[in-house]
Amino acid sequence: MRIGFYGGVREIGGNIILMESNGVGIVFDFGRRFPTSQVFFNDTIKGRPEKGFEDYVDLGELPPFRGFYMRELPESKSLPIEIGGVFFSHAHLDHIGRICYLSNALKKYMTRGTFATLTYFVDKGIVECMPENIEIINEKTIQTGDFKITPYFIDHDVPGAVAYFIETPKGLVIYTGDIYFKGTKSEQSFKFVEYAKSLKPYILITEGTRIGWNGILSNTEDELKGQIKEVANVFKGLIIGNVYEIHLARIQTFLNASIELGKNFIIHEDYANILLKYGEFDPIATKILNSQNTFVYAPSGSKLNLPKEKYITKEELVLNQVKEILLLNFAHITELLDINPIPGSAYIMSGGEPLSSIDPPNTKILENWLSNFNLPLFRIHSPGHASETEILWMAREINPEILLPIHTQFPERFNIVHNNVMILEKGVLTEF
Ligand SMILES: [Zn+2]
Ligand SMILES: [Zn+2]
Repeated sequence: MRIGFYGGVREIGGNIILMESNGVGIVFDFGRRFPTSQVFFNDTIKGRPEKGFEDYVDLGELPPFRGFYMRELPESKSLPIEIGGVFFSHAHLDHIGRICYLSNALKKYMTRGTFATLTYFVDKGIVECMPENIEIINEKTIQTGDFKITPYFIDHDVPGAVAYFIETPKGLVIYTGDIYFKGTKSEQSFKFVEYAKSLKPYILITEGTRIGWNGILSNTEDELKGQIKEVANVFKGLIIGNVYEIHLARIQTFLNASIELGKNFIIHEDYANILLKYGEFDPIATKILNSQNTFVYAPSGSKLNLPKEKYITKEELVLNQVKEILLLNFAHITELLDINPIPGSAYIMSGGEPLSSIDPPNTKILENWLSNFNLPLFRIHSPGHASETEILWMAREINPEILLPIHTQFPERFNIVHNNVMILEKGVLTEF
């Protein structure tokens, strides 16, 4: 059996993992990469259209897989491996964002939660196509070639995130995906560690996002709620929150803060859209939308057909600012022109876009809007990844024969807790 990493090597995000046995391969995740020193293309510099995906493959930005892309690579440039399917761990764009490059004939496996988020991204034009050949695998085991693949739900800051257990001819391989131990569903992550440990795996492929972040503190959603309330207890105008639309637990935190503050919880229609999608499998989403505190702001008309009394008009919103918490994503910051927040209003950045570390130009735009409307900015957020100590603890607990770090800038750090850490170079298939 061979394993190769084609993305996520000494970088956070963009995981692409190939496992191959007897000429048949399976791939885990296929996302966009954050800009790093290894990235050659962006919205301005694209591969030459007549070359299909060749330019990207030549520079190692995409893997040389056969029968994989919408446009086939020349045979001389692709590996003679038949890919049996792509398994997505969750719907963050660094794991799923390039799904539209994939051939329609290729099987794409994901959970219901991941599928719901994907359809939201398609609605918003963030993912450019509705991919074909998707199979939902909430509890299923899939057999492909020599592999048997089973998803296992864990906590992360998007619904439907899973780790994968892969039975191989050489033993059990486990891939963590992105994992969190302080969220509202962290019990699942702890169960995952217990279960993984009991199976004595051959290989653990683990994320390590927060290694080297110089801090281990994570706030629980309850603690974040307390911070939101602290701001609202001093700033008596409109409280505007910016949450990543697909972060269900955080939306719930803002609702809970609103209820405890005796305020109405106004959500831009984008949030209502995703809550409807998540409501099909997660009762929490339905509860948020149905709460008597929750109202939907749809300034350009609604496509959602919610009961009429669920909507709030612009006039009502503007009149009652002292009694409101408003969730407004960055894409709709222009609404501030109509809302005109009253003195004493505040803006809480809580994991929404833009991410200041990777998107300085949009961060500048956001800051300009906030200063124009005299809105003080508060960052109240906790990243949805295990802290450095938690992820090292997890690796030590599970104690595989071989540890393969991915999705981290500092894979060597795992040597502290394990004596057989292998650091794979990008694009090198390694025999196990
Ligand atoms: Zn990630
Ligand atoms: Zn993630």
